[in-house]
Amino acid sequence: MKILVPVKRVLDYNIKARPKADGTGVELAGLKMSMNPFDEIAMEAALRLKEAGQATEIVAVSCGPAANQETLRTALALGADRAVLVQCEGELEPLAVAKLLRAVTLREQPGLVLCGKQAIDDDANQTGQMLSALMGWAQATFASRIELQGASEALVTREIDGGLETLSIRLPAVITTDLRLNEPRYATLPNIMKAKKKPLDTLTPADLGVDTAPHLKLVQVFEPPQRQGGIRVSDVAELVGKLKNEAKVI
Ligand code: AMP
Repeated sequence: MKILVPVKRVLDYNIKARPKADGTGVELAGLKMSMNPFDEIAMEAALRLKEAGQATEIVAVSCGPAANQETLRTALALGADRAVLVQCEGELEPLAVAKLLRAVTLREQPGLVLCGKQAIDDDANQTGQMLSALMGWAQATFASRIELQGASEALVTREIDGGLETLSIRLPAVITTDLRLNEPRYATLPNIMKAKKKPLDTLTPADLGVDTAPHLKLVQVFEPPQRQGGIRVSDVAELVGKLKNEAKVI
């Protein structure tokens, strides 16, 4: 079975995001960019399925500017067999990414698409769900355990508000990964060197017949207001009084 792993290039999780001075977005210039952490988990899950003999090929795909090649080379160094860059400039909304991924999925015909549950830049948590809807495939989001039952079914344990839920889904399907699914490996130096020779194909949205024009307009990005210091109340009655008379929704 072939597994497609979409990987997004995001501001490294160790770096505090700051708005640009003119409020038109988040400052990225000169800052370290990395593979979205949930996508590292998806890649690790794919690698473990391949190592267990349940997957034959892992294809990493990223949509965005040429710099995403770096993220794809990381995926190749971790163990992906091939990579596909859908090269486009400008902001990509989750729906546009889902449409691009649909087109790549139709070309590649994987048995499974393993996405991150969300990208840590916009925290949208939409792309996997939209891709599953566009494909008409089953979806299992927030996976903390994936067990393939042959090539046509998977048991997926999901992290939900009330605890854990296990679904049986028909393949092909889209599964999105949660934090506790696994602990991703690091790429070794020899594998980083080998990754330079692995195939990385580049496509454009036009090649895939997808219009990526945005439907949303970003109005402004700004820091949240500084949190005011808390106060100590003497009893419950005072607390209830303050909640009734002073607390307000910001
Ligand atoms: P989001 O819906 O933006 O929170 O992203 C959820 C998941 O969709 C990510 O963890 C990735 O697996 C995938 N994804 C989002 N944007 C991209 C992108 N530009 N290229 C490749 N995969 C992406």
